[in-house]
Amino acid sequence: MPKNQPISGNDLARFSGPNTFMRLPQANDLGGLDVAVVGVPTDIGTSWRSGTRFGPKQVRAESAMIRPYNVQTGAAPFDTLQVADVGDMAINTFSLSDTLTIIRDSYKAIIAHDVRPMTIGGDHSITLPILRAAAEKHGPLALVHVDAHADVNEHMFGERETHGTVFRRAHEEGLINPQKTYQIGLRGTGYTADDFKEAAAWGFQQWLAADLWHRPLDTLGGEIRRDIGQETPTYVTFDIDSLDPAYAPGTGTPEIGGLTTPQALQLIRGLRGLNIVGCDLVEVSPPYDPSGNTALTGANILYELLCVFPGVAYR
Ligand code: MN
Ligand code: MN
Repeated sequence: MPKNQPISGNDLARFSGPNTFMRLPQANDLGGLDVAVVGVPTDIGTSWRSGTRFGPKQVRAESAMIRPYNVQTGAAPFDTLQVADVGDMAINTFSLSDTLTIIRDSYKAIIAHDVRPMTIGGDHSITLPILRAAAEKHGPLALVHVDAHADVNEHMFGERETHGTVFRRAHEEGLINPQKTYQIGLRGTGYTADDFKEAAAWGFQQWLAADLWHRPLDTLGGEIRRDIGQETPTYVTFDIDSLDPAYAPGTGTPEIGGLTTPQALQLIRGLRGLNIVGCDLVEVSPPYDPSGNTALTGANILYELLCVFPGVAYR
């Protein structure tokens, strides 16, 4: 069966056509899909600047620039995978708790169809209900978490579910295997001098951004891949603020001294061979992204993640 293809910029000018990811077809049902691109337009889990509710729309708009073949790695994702954009989730913008329930139930349906979700956020709070849905099917997941922040707060203003508490909840609820949880790019100032250490004691493996400065990350991706193993169901969550604000200024909680765009590509390409059951790209805030460069970078990161999904053909 022929697979869905992005509309070529040689057939229809890039600035026209549908605002779907890479101008792929929009699908109204999940039948036959291998990967579903899902937008989750919310910013009500954020603690500082808002605006990620506009993330899915803007990341899709910038993704019109991306061509189907990865000329650097040889990946040809649309040769073998059936990929479609299933649109935005109908979240409740007046209630975070209701929104998280909607997300969990919707992803349970996606995952029940054996479709792997590729999510455009949205703030990072959306990852918790996705992990709840994925772990219900797969058991505790390996987690590759690229972020300036560990997102392991106990609560924020008494709230247990926010964009800064996600991975403490995921750990408490047994959604992730702490021995196979990898946090990459951590940095910034803390409320205590050892904000990251409790999670390290749970088993999370952490790489501070400063320890990665000036270091190529393809080897790190490979180390993580070998540590996880080929079969283990793995989720990849990529917070755009892992990148330095020079590369990705359009985000809610920027931290200086971050990863570079080339390091992000090296890291993701090193993950090829994992059993990735889903991924997300979160925290792109278009109101703080006047050039569109953050959304463009986010769109390309999602494309690179798609290129290392299971079943992708390489030429
Ligand atoms: Mn985060
Ligand atoms: Mn972050």
